[in-house]
Amino acid sequence: MKTKTKYIFVTGGVISGVGKGIMAASMGAILKAKGLKVSIQKCDPYFNVDAGLLNPREHGECFVTRDGAETDLDLGHYERFLDEEMTGNSIWTSGKLYKTLIDAERSGKFGGKTVQLVPHVTNMVQQTFLDNARDFESDVHIVEIGGTVGDIEGLHFIEAVREFPTKVGRENCLYVHVCYVPWLSTSQEFKTKPAQNSLRDLRQFGIIPDMVVARMDVDQLVKAPHVASKLATFCGVREDAVVLMPDAKSVYEVPLNAVKSGVLAPLERFIDHGDPDMSQWEKLVKRIESKPTKTVRIGMVAKYVDNTDTYLSVTEALKAAAWEAGVDLKTVWINAEEATDADFADVDGIVVPGGFGIRGVEGKIAAAAYCLEHNKPYLGLCLGMQVAVIAAARRGGVKCANSEEFGAQEGKNVVYIMEGQQGKESTGGTMRLGNYPAVLKKGTKLAKIYGATEVIERHRHRYEVNQEFTEQIRAGGLEIAGTSPDGALVEFVEAPNCDYFVATQGHPEYRSRPYRAHPMFAGLLKAASKK
Ligand code: GLN
Repeated sequence: MKTKTKYIFVTGGVISGVGKGIMAASMGAILKAKGLKVSIQKCDPYFNVDAGLLNPREHGECFVTRDGAETDLDLGHYERFLDEEMTGNSIWTSGKLYKTLIDAERSGKFGGKTVQLVPHVTNMVQQTFLDNARDFESDVHIVEIGGTVGDIEGLHFIEAVREFPTKVGRENCLYVHVCYVPWLSTSQEFKTKPAQNSLRDLRQFGIIPDMVVARMDVDQLVKAPHVASKLATFCGVREDAVVLMPDAKSVYEVPLNAVKSGVLAPLERFIDHGDPDMSQWEKLVKRIESKPTKTVRIGMVAKYVDNTDTYLSVTEALKAAAWEAGVDLKTVWINAEEATDADFADVDGIVVPGGFGIRGVEGKIAAAAYCLEHNKPYLGLCLGMQVAVIAAARRGGVKCANSEEFGAQEGKNVVYIMEGQQGKESTGGTMRLGNYPAVLKKGTKLAKIYGATEVIERHRHRYEVNQEFTEQIRAGGLEIAGTSPDGALVEFVEAPNCDYFVATQGHPEYRSRPYRAHPMFAGLLKAASKK
């Protein structure tokens, strides 16, 4: 019989952005390396129902799950660290929570009762923990609470977490508080006061943590026993449960750093399951730290070059491919609004990632046209495939070819809106989202790259290639290499006359892992390193 699921709750203090999510995911990776089945979820205080309509400049990448939820980029970290596919249930924003609750109230589900924050909201939050643990059949389920303790908008999550042991037993809950310990250069010392204050805030809500992760302002592992003993004394935690974490050069070092910093003692008091096999992480970090002699320059032709978090899964997928190929990756950000042929000539390969809206689109089309013309390695992702098709159609004689999204003239819409998508352009959760299968034509380069003809990728789009223009697109140098199983939708294109010019309507970047590059990215790095 399966033993009872254990729950780990990760809260944050002092400031956000110190890597609470990476720490939560790293603990998950360590427990997974012990042979345990681990799942993870995020509770985010904001009131957007999901991340679908959020401005990526403000919020970073919108990560899409296999079941089609548009989520926060943290879920991407979770997938890359745990090698486990998340679902829509892996994230609960306050917006989604309240919407579900109010919908239930309107449909009469509460039988005349007054609906309140406690117990109705808190029960719902707790139910998400139980549902995830059940769906993932978890030995350990980790819950990261977004924001910092004391934020008024996150209180319902903190209260739900505090009450939860009454449902599953205190011995099955581990509270971890991640806080920041700054270094004061004038007096040359670490200051624990802000961390102490955040732990006091947490105590006020009835939670005394079992483990404190002190994110320290240093770039290497430190011995600072006075920090640990001070936090232990003032905050009522065991001294060996204060884990001092320095900044890491790469996020993938964090699982190993956590072990070196003593995370195992408090974790193993909570769940004893043998030693973790960290060899996968050791191998990865060794790859990351190796100093390859060959540098490969990949140009990212994009719009939000001032917030590259917008393309986080793409940049992580590129890194994974570079580590696998044993080359030093230099990502060159090319502002799509100002891009010229000189920028394209200056790099060894080009990626045009996903995107929405007309701004910068001509620069992306120019990038695809340049690669077709000059046999430069090209990888197009979603919009990156659509602009490639536009470039090919223009080369193939459809002057002014464009996408309906960018106001194509009549008869020139080589990319057009999918059936049923009209009028939904500014609404949330209505695109073609999540996993869809595709069939690759036998003998195509892409079938070879994948090593398969039936593939599944995640999607997030409203527009599709107009197959009435297949001939002109072909004349312009692109072949349709894969479609939806019924042939209705173009999923992959490639250029038979180029060494490596591939593009897809999907988002393969979401399925890349740091230790297992996605074949489309691996292929790009390989081709670019030959240039
Ligand atoms: N804007 C395009 C569409 O909606 C591409 C979307 C994307 O790149 N994710 O189809």
